[in-house]
Formats: sequence, structure tokens, C-alpha cells
Amino acid sequence: MTGGRRADVLARADLEQWLRAFAGEVVEGHEALSDLDSATGDADHGANLERGMIALLTALDSWDGEATPGEFLKDVGMLVVSTVGGSSGALYGTVFLRMSRAFAESTEVTDEMLIEAWMNAVDGVVERGGVSRGDKTMLDALGPAADALADGVRRGDGRRAALAEAVAAARRGRDATADMVARRGKSSYARERSRGAIDPGAASMTLLVEAAARELGS
Ligand code: ADP
Ligand code: MG
Repeated sequence: MTGGRRADVLARADLEQWLRAFAGEVVEGHEALSDLDSATGDADHGANLERGMIALLTALDSWDGEATPGEFLKDVGMLVVSTVGGSSGALYGTVFLRMSRAFAESTEVTDEMLIEAWMNAVDGVVERGGVSRGDKTMLDALGPAADALADGVRRGDGRRAALAEAVAAARRGRDATADMVARRGKSSYARERSRGAIDPGAASMTLLVEAAARELGS
């Protein structure tokens, strides 16, 4: 084996495929995301994310493919912060910037680095957003997904199966937000009115995990 791509690690190109898939899902589903935000917040989550994802898709066409995985996700994070807007822009930016730190200077992403990236993202949202699990936010999908990925890989399930378990955990977490009352963010103003509706950030975060399972699974 000389010079060929190793199947047990990921490269920058895989991360790009993942984010292109996520961006496509957001552009496709932005109205549904804003509809969820209309039940609990100010009806702009889909529009905020769509704006940033269109900017990302445009940028991806012009970025050279030479960046390391860490440099790449750092660039993505900075672009997201400056184009998404809303609280979710700062938070999604934090997700990608914190993930990038797990990759350091490496040109390859191992399963352990992938786990660390998702754990870093969880810590970033907790610190930056000042939220805990159960506050009816994106963290309620992200946290269980990161845990399931780590558990699955460390049990020896392999990356593909562990990512599938992360998707199941994200969906359960997303759906559970319907029974929660928002304590943070704009939807907290709606308080009891927010009960019964799924949190829009938990729904978009589930799209990010689903895209990871599709694009980073093998
Ligand atoms: P805004 O709340 O500024 O209108 P968006 O509508 O784009 O921003 O995003 C709303 C989503 O962002 C919420 O559904 C929630 O998941 C997430 N969110 C908002 N505030 C926080 C926070 N402090 N911590 C974690 N997530 C948050
Ligand atoms: Mg909003």
C-alpha cells in the first residue's frame, strides 16, 4: 500500500462532502426549519442557516483543496459565524471551530479524533450558549449524538455503525425537545407556548449528524 487513501481514516475531502450534503439539506429544508422557529421563536432559523449554507457552497467551489482537515473546519467556522447570523450563527460557528481543534495539524482524521471533535463541539455549545441538556436547544440533539458516537466506536462497532447510532440518538434528542420548555434563546420568551414544538436548532443539528452518517460512514 503506497500513497493510496486509507479506509480507516478521513481526509479533508470527506469533511467537504459532509458539509456539502448538510448545506444541501438546509437549502432544501429551510422553510420547515423556519416553521419550527415560528412555533417557539422568531421564524428565522431556516433563513439564517440557508444564507450561510449558500455562502458556504459558493466558497467551497473556490477554496483550494490543500488545507488540512483542521484548517478547513476553521475556515468553515469563521465563514459560518460571519454569514449565518442569529444566535445559531455564533453557535454553529463554535461547533466547527471547536471541532477543528481536535484535528490539530493532522492530514488524517482518525476515529478517536472524530469523537474528540464532536465532544469539543458539545463543550463549545455548553460554554458559548450557556445551556445544559434539557434547555430545548441544539445541544439536546448534539450531546446524545456525540455520546452515541463515542460509545459505539469504543465498543468496537466501527465508524459506520457508530454514526448510525449517533443519528438515532440525535433524532431521539430532537423529538424529546417537543416536551421541553425553552429556557435559553429567543424561544424562552415563549415559555410554556414552546411546549409541544420541536426546537429548530435540534432539528438542524440532526441534519448535520445525518449528513455525517451518510458521508463519513465508510
Ligand atoms: P435566533 O434565536 O437568534 O433567532 P436562530 O433562530 O437561527 O437564532 O436559532 C435558534 C436556535 O438556536 C434554537 O432553536 C436553539 O437550538 C439554538 N439556540 C439559541 N440560543 C441558544 C443558546 N444560548 N445555546 C444553545 N443553543 C441556542
Ligand atoms: Mg430565530
